[in-house]
Amino acid sequence: MRTFSLEDVMSVEEFNNEIQKRRTFAIISHPDAGKTTLTEKLLLYGGAIHLAGSIKSRKTQRHAVSDWMEIEKQRGISVTSSVLQFDYDGCRINILDTPGHQDFSEDTYRTLMAVDSAVMIIDVAKGVEAQTKKLFKVCKQRNIPIFTFVNKLDRYGKEPLELMEEIESVLGIRSYPMNWPIGIDGKYKGVYDRQKRQIELFDEDATHGQKERTSVTGDITDPQIAELLGVTAQQALAEDIELLDTAGEAFDLDKIAHGELTPMFFGSAMTNFGVQNFLEEYLKLAPPPAPRNSSAGLILPDNENFSAFVFKIQANMNPAHRDRLAFIRICSGKFERGMSVYHHKTNKMIKLSQPQQFLAQERQIIDVAYPGDIVGLFDPGVFGIGDTLCDAGHKFDFADFPVFPPEKFARVQAKDTMKRKQFVKGITQLTQEGAVQLFQQAGAGMESYIVGTVGNLQFEVLEYRLKNEYGVDILMQMQHYEVARWLVNKDGSEVTPESLRGTDRGMFVYDMKQRPVLLVNNEWALGWIVDNNPDVDLFHVPPDK
Ligand code: GDP
Repeated sequence: MRTFSLEDVMSVEEFNNEIQKRRTFAIISHPDAGKTTLTEKLLLYGGAIHLAGSIKSRKTQRHAVSDWMEIEKQRGISVTSSVLQFDYDGCRINILDTPGHQDFSEDTYRTLMAVDSAVMIIDVAKGVEAQTKKLFKVCKQRNIPIFTFVNKLDRYGKEPLELMEEIESVLGIRSYPMNWPIGIDGKYKGVYDRQKRQIELFDEDATHGQKERTSVTGDITDPQIAELLGVTAQQALAEDIELLDTAGEAFDLDKIAHGELTPMFFGSAMTNFGVQNFLEEYLKLAPPPAPRNSSAGLILPDNENFSAFVFKIQANMNPAHRDRLAFIRICSGKFERGMSVYHHKTNKMIKLSQPQQFLAQERQIIDVAYPGDIVGLFDPGVFGIGDTLCDAGHKFDFADFPVFPPEKFARVQAKDTMKRKQFVKGITQLTQEGAVQLFQQAGAGMESYIVGTVGNLQFEVLEYRLKNEYGVDILMQMQHYEVARWLVNKDGSEVTPESLRGTDRGMFVYDMKQRPVLLVNNEWALGWIVDNNPDVDLFHVPPDK
């Protein structure tokens, strides 16, 4: 047996229990499918809040626990991902909120690197929507388990069988309904639980979804249930169940674990139909923290040596405190406040003081955390997205952190040249956060930058944050480029604007590490560059990543 040397008296068994009880996941969906509402209801059932909706400000209807920034309140969208932690039924749950707006896909993708499973919400009337498709793809690439919650069953929607077919044809994954909705369109009365083979009918909701929903349960042949349901509905249900049992996909835990089969739940987050049942089944089926790939091979969560990676950096979360937090996902070992860890990128030791965790809307200083947990660290400006923190005696790098190529570009400068210093400071910090990517045009002066993003809304956020956090108004000119390629000569020498054939067909820029990059209009223009520069390699992300 291997020796275990955690500093305190914790036994291997206690340590493993801490790991096994953790469930770290993100909710993915198209805007308006009900992510905010479901998150709130999960917190409600977890006892982390007492009245759902109470944390929404009355004035700004859509401002919920997980929204932090002023811009989010104003626009009613989630710009950044937040982390919420609560306990339920012996499990420690970490929900990583993801921004719903399509322009924020980059931040969302990164968040998906930090989770062990995902919950996909589908609006019963709308089916699989564009943003869900994109996010699903990322989860699928990681082969993480995906759970489906079909929401808004209190309203008219598509037939459950039709939705199952749609999920299969659009997303390429088969589903296994864990429960089956009962009643007619818009008048759902409850669900049939396929595991327990039991019907659960919900009571009239007297609290408008603010409190947990009560229900009665019984067998499908139970006369009391039959009376409540009506004979026609009972027969229709029996037929559906038989069809699912005989012609449907078999329940296969292995397929679920590899993201090849999605357990499907029907409910209504707003009226609390099926929310608790979903939470309980989800906790049973969802995996605890999984091993992670690194330059030193697979890192198991129960490895006693601490390791984590930074998946998000956010400045000025609290305008009163000008702070900057780096969010880390713990992958192995035990985290302790004040511990010193090895920062792989700078090759230095860093002391982790003032670590923060988030319980519903409150932040608190934490002393210990375990694999699967997310911790916010005060960042003096040393951390970058994707950085590895590990034990000094066991150095490695978490290998597969994705970099996303920018697709939108704008020339940005300070309106008032006197404010250039603040402008450079602000834009540099936002770049370190990973909010935008920064380039400098070859041969151009230092007064303007070329900013690259994945979506248009990021420009608005940049403008807003520079003004509000750094007091700088900016001038922004959109550029008609859509493709960025990092350039390296095949013989290893540097590509210059002069050496590249067709430089004037695009814009030649340098990234913040002085690596040459060409921006072009489209794939067609790119094809010309490729054909005419056979001695140059082109990369869609920085070549040393
Ligand atoms: P998000 O954009 O995915 O976070 O969606 P929200 O949770 O903000 O919900 C979008 C809208 O759908 C809001 O007006 C919610 O009140 C509403 N909504 C959420 N869940 C349900 C539901 O179960 N039934 C109905 N009828 N409306 C819902």
